[in-house]
Amino acid sequence: MSDCIFCNIIAGEIPSKKIYEDDDMLAFHDISPQAPVHFLVIPKKHIPNVMEAKPEDALLLGKLLHKAQTLLAEQGCAEKGGRFVVNCKSDGMQTVEHIHLHVFGGRSLGWPPG
Ligand code: AMP
Ligand code: ZN
Repeated sequence: MSDCIFCNIIAGEIPSKKIYEDDDMLAFHDISPQAPVHFLVIPKKHIPNVMEAKPEDALLLGKLLHKAQTLLAEQGCAEKGGRFVVNCKSDGMQTVEHIHLHVFGGRSLGWPPG
């Protein structure tokens, strides 16, 4: 979608600090990191949010989570872990309408969220 910032990042029209890319997904550092490690994993398919994901998207979404695990480990967080977050629509404070998995690590994270 031409008006989607993450589709534009996928297309290379907006620069990003890329961590990983394959045919299905892209991972890149968040522009406003909230932890020592904070990156996003996004599908190349434009899916606006979790509520609009279809049954046929299940494998793709599972791949994102599994790749996030590998990438978090590569960032030195295998032992202590971190957090995997998908904000959804207005109550979830989603600001970019293209599904993205936030991955946080490198510090102890508070719970519950505010
Ligand atoms: P959310 O509030 O869950 O929709 O999160 C959107 C995230 O995208 C925020 O953490 C932003 O800092 C991040 N973000 C927005 N624009 C960019 C960009 N151009 N490059 C990297 N991260 C971005
Ligand atoms: Zn998009």
